[in-house]
Amino acid sequence: MTTTGDLALTTSIADLPGVQRRQVDAFVRLGVLSLAHLLHHLPYRYDKEHPGASLGDLPPDHLVSAVGEVIETHPINYGKRSRFEAVLRDDSGELRVTWFHMPFLRHKIHAGDVIRVEGTTKRSRKGGLEMTNPSWSVADAGEMDPAYAAGKGVRLRPVYSATEGLPSQTIESVVAKNLDTGLALIEDHLPDEARRSRELPTLREAYRMLHAPQDEHEAGEGRRRLVYDELLLVQLGVALRRAHRLRTTRAHALKWDERIDGRIRARIPFTLTPGQESVVREIAADLTTDAPANRLIQGDVGAGKTVVALYAMLLAVADGKQAALMAPTELLAEQHHASVSRMLEGSKVSVELLTGSLPAADAGAVRERIASGDAGIVIGTHALLSESTSFDNLSVVVIDEQHRFGVHQRAMLRAKSGRSQDELDEREIVPHTLVMTATPIPRTLSLTVFADLDVSLLKGLPPGRSPVETSWYPSVRADEVYAHVRARLENREQAYVVVPAIETNDEEGKKSLRSVASMVRRLGEHELDGFRVAGVHGRRPRPARERVMSRFRDGSIDVLVATTVIEVGVDVPNATVMVVEHADRFGLAQLHQLRGRVGRGEKASACYLIADDPTPDGMERLKALCASNDGFVLAEKDLELRGPGELIGARQSGAASFRLAQFPEDQELLLLCRRDARAWVADSPRLGKPHEALLKKRLLKAHGGSLDLSEIA
Ligand code: ADP
Ligand code: MG
Repeated sequence: MTTTGDLALTTSIADLPGVQRRQVDAFVRLGVLSLAHLLHHLPYRYDKEHPGASLGDLPPDHLVSAVGEVIETHPINYGKRSRFEAVLRDDSGELRVTWFHMPFLRHKIHAGDVIRVEGTTKRSRKGGLEMTNPSWSVADAGEMDPAYAAGKGVRLRPVYSATEGLPSQTIESVVAKNLDTGLALIEDHLPDEARRSRELPTLREAYRMLHAPQDEHEAGEGRRRLVYDELLLVQLGVALRRAHRLRTTRAHALKWDERIDGRIRARIPFTLTPGQESVVREIAADLTTDAPANRLIQGDVGAGKTVVALYAMLLAVADGKQAALMAPTELLAEQHHASVSRMLEGSKVSVELLTGSLPAADAGAVRERIASGDAGIVIGTHALLSESTSFDNLSVVVIDEQHRFGVHQRAMLRAKSGRSQDELDEREIVPHTLVMTATPIPRTLSLTVFADLDVSLLKGLPPGRSPVETSWYPSVRADEVYAHVRARLENREQAYVVVPAIETNDEEGKKSLRSVASMVRRLGEHELDGFRVAGVHGRRPRPARERVMSRFRDGSIDVLVATTVIEVGVDVPNATVMVVEHADRFGLAQLHQLRGRVGRGEKASACYLIADDPTPDGMERLKALCASNDGFVLAEKDLELRGPGELIGARQSGAASFRLAQFPEDQELLLLCRRDARAWVADSPRLGKPHEALLKKRLLKAHGGSLDLSEIA
């Protein structure tokens, strides 16, 4: 037998007082393997227990404790099964209680006894309330007095997530038996001063408050401490990374002056919007220091992120350095290459394109120009990351639509800066990195997963855009939709038709999904006959796809039927109308991205969402799209409909999934932790002080892997 004195936090659940052998498996199923786990197994809510509440006042469907005089008992036996019923009464009412399989109770509970029962109330079919298999104990008649109950006040009873064979009440009693021992073993990792300045309880107090709170305020305080810890650890990890990055790397501080600015602007065929101006200012400020920029440029579809990137790249070129732009698809890389080349026509800047489908000899020649430094601006895909690509002096990297690339790939490109560093400075030279995205990142994520990125918001749209008029039609009215499309085509505008899948599904009773091929046929022969209709989807070989896309771009195709391959970045200003078939099958963010393919020119654009009988959520999505063109508004809506877990980025790092913290409720605490963490690391850049040892150990255990802290702290 284990004595209490021998217990450690690592003691197996099987060896804890109060745990019966047959319960061990159930604890294991709950992930509770040790005393430490038991303490971490926190109540997810508290039931209010009114001690000895008057029987007449008991609420149905509540776990309660009640005291009454036994006025009747009915032992009932049939075969092996037995039942023992009792009726309790006090001045205010009655409660019917039934125990199954406890025949011995007839010798223990007699009419006239006063007993306390604890269990869940239910409405009885016979009228009034009943309770089945409550726990019970002998009580004192005085406890039936309402004044006694009032004096004791409400007790909060912890409710634990439970499993078969291990109800919450059992966990509660095991916790109660081990709480004091466990608490005595807890060491606090927060130095007293840090804890007091935030008015947080000690870790020991916090666990006590959570498992056995005096009142709701205490339960809240206990939770606040643990949430603070959880958030602080992530923020400390991020702050350490940042400090490390700035300590060990540097970038070229690029030259900037009025003359350079003027020369760059002269290349841009329009006046920058106020939003672009302010982002350009932020970028110029970043790039002219030797602290490597790590900036996220977040702007809605069509906001004009490309010229902002171009400005940054030209700053590098003006200073005799190289810049690279990495796009997620060949199509986009080509498109960027074409538009950047157009803007730089007649200048000395050489713009190169490097994609996987270049013939080997051409790619070799491009790589040579990159390595020699002759290539000023390099635009490409993943091919930029291949080992055979090396730069002479890469100093600005722009990554378009970053969520298509992992954090890891960003780091790879960063490592390609070229020229060896100067001998007096140990810091490695890395390029400034800008990441462009149209996907609004919820604030919570931008403060955690992306916390080491500075964020620029590119607000507003270029002038002359009219918002895309969005409407929803059931499929029986598709004819009307295509009549609108026809009118546009007759006006020499172009159209997208988006379908959700490339397989046909003609199972009986189900509406068939329209594949790209059959849609091309149908529209070409019927609704849009006489116009040039072509299709693209992800299963076609890339060169074929690119051919169709470029014919659409140059206007030799009128209607492009596509799957979501056109979602990202495609820029054909003459395309002014989009039809989305089976729109209810797309996510909100995705529909917004898709819709961003139209409304890119001066002509008013329209988007028709065709959907039958959407689910309530589907309906909400469609309504939101018809009501708003603003990606930020829609992102909020999406967050509301789906919860943060599924949003882009949330899965990129374990740092984003919290055990206790909840958003938006804990936003304030998150901001506080971020401030505290930054100040902390500024003061102690490696958490190397003796009183920080435990904190550091716990930090490395929690986030050392996902934040790659091993070399840092
Ligand atoms: P996104 O932010 O979606 O990448 P783009 O950079 O592709 O947007 O820009 C969308 C369109 O708007 C392009 O055709 C671009 O030439 C045009 N554009 C960008 N900035 C301006 C501006 N300041 N004035 C007029 N047109 C602009
Ligand atoms: Mg873009």
